[in-house]
Amino acid sequence: MSATADSLELSRCEACGARFLPNAGACSHCGSNQVRAYSSPALGTVLAATELTSPAEGWHAPHRLALVELPESVRLFAIVDGALPTSGTIVAVRKDGEVYRARSEPGT
Ligand SMILES: [Zn+2]
Repeated sequence: MSATADSLELSRCEACGARFLPNAGACSHCGSNQVRAYSSPALGTVLAATELTSPAEGWHAPHRLALVELPESVRLFAIVDGALPTSGTIVAVRKDGEVYRARSEPGT
């Protein structure tokens, strides 16, 4: 893993221990309002990836998407910058406005 990886802000429920992407509401697992933000390394493992050759209007083709698992089993969909990764590839993830973007780490 890269020593220069950024971090991502995630949420942890103090009541049930669930971890998830930040949202404005209560824990989606147990309904508790005891939700705290925490930082996680912004590296994840690609579980699956796909490439759309005819994406919706407004998106460039090819449009690549990956299902990425972060530490502690938090999963997210990310737009892939660069080549289509294979399952098991380690990617760096960053938040870009309302979307997440993933890029393969050099040397992986
Ligand atoms: Zn909870």
